[in-house]
Amino acid sequence: MSFNDRFYPFISALIILIIAVLALIILIKPGINDNMIKVVAVAETKPFPHRPEDDSADDPAIWIHPGTPDSSRIIGTDKMGGLAVYTTDGKELAYYLHGLMNNADIRYGFPLDSNKVDILAVTNRTTQSVDLYKISRNGSLEIIHKSKLQTEISDEIYGLCMYQNKKTGKYYVFANSKAGEVVQWELFPDSGLINGKIVRRFRLTTQVEGMTADDENAFLFVGEEDVAIRRFNAEPDMPPGDFLLPGSSAMENNMIGYDIEGLAIYSLPDGEGYLIASSQGNDSYAVFDRKAPYVYLGSFRITEGKTTDGAEGTDGIDVTSSMAGDQFKHGFLVVQDGSNIDNNKPAPQNFKIVAWDSIAVKFQPNLRIR
Ligand code: CA
Ligand code: CA
Ligand code: CA
Ligand code: CA
Ligand code: CA
Ligand code: CA
Ligand code: CA
Repeated sequence: MSFNDRFYPFISALIILIIAVLALIILIKPGINDNMIKVVAVAETKPFPHRPEDDSADDPAIWIHPGTPDSSRIIGTDKMGGLAVYTTDGKELAYYLHGLMNNADIRYGFPLDSNKVDILAVTNRTTQSVDLYKISRNGSLEIIHKSKLQTEISDEIYGLCMYQNKKTGKYYVFANSKAGEVVQWELFPDSGLINGKIVRRFRLTTQVEGMTADDENAFLFVGEEDVAIRRFNAEPDMPPGDFLLPGSSAMENNMIGYDIEGLAIYSLPDGEGYLIASSQGNDSYAVFDRKAPYVYLGSFRITEGKTTDGAEGTDGIDVTSSMAGDQFKHGFLVVQDGSNIDNNKPAPQNFKIVAWDSIAVKFQPNLRIR
């Protein structure tokens, strides 16, 4: 028996093993695996007035105009300067130099005197507070708090979302700190303005930011950035009900890449719909069923289109299922882009705008539309 005869089977087995290992690495490594769904943005917002390397844009909020869906607005936070208001095709209409704004969220129809006002709540890191704004019919913003809501939390104020109890009609704001503290205020009218009182505090053990509340199902979802998505009862007098969403950690789900950042809910009737999470570490968005057992349905990326670059390293996101004009009959998604490119050159950060139906049709089976 020659040397070749003895070693040939061993060498071919070794080659097969190496190929198998390489194939396995490619299949399981997020980022390399590119069978992820891809969509493109139809528009992007005007970049913030900063340098391309600055981390400026952070979190969007969508406001749907009550009578004219075409006049709906995107409000974006600039953590180096303030708040901007955009049309749904990304044109900037206003910029408010009101402080280092981090996260923002909106609820409709707060009863104030004989009026109903739509409210924007924002975490302001200049004053370590939650600031409240009235959104006028033309989309402009006007401060409506009696005084800024002070947090009394030990670390910097960070994430934020709003919640409305559908039975009592009460409005709440949740804010958190990087250290994992969560504070809940109940809002109430106060001599023609809005004020808030702290009704609950609780704490997670690691860094949090992204939060969203499910008004119909009375839950608060919190992204523990390096762990998973957690669900809590949104009602202040209920037990916390801490529940970890299965399939939302990178340990269990190789499509998740930490940090878990923005969270948002695409709502359908009867409390159904989807929970979407920014998976910042692999430039993608994970989609879960809105209802227990929160089945993971898949992930998608926003890649380069004809007029827009893709979205990478996304912080905040927001989504609506409401009709928002001809281009967005079934709603749209807006996400922060960590590295904006304009005319093939790095540009300051901005937000990308994606039609919901363009995402829904890429899933098998298709995601539902409203
Ligand atoms: Ca960032
Ligand atoms: Ca938001
Ligand atoms: Ca974060
Ligand atoms: Ca991060
Ligand atoms: Ca952020
Ligand atoms: Ca980009
Ligand atoms: Ca761009």
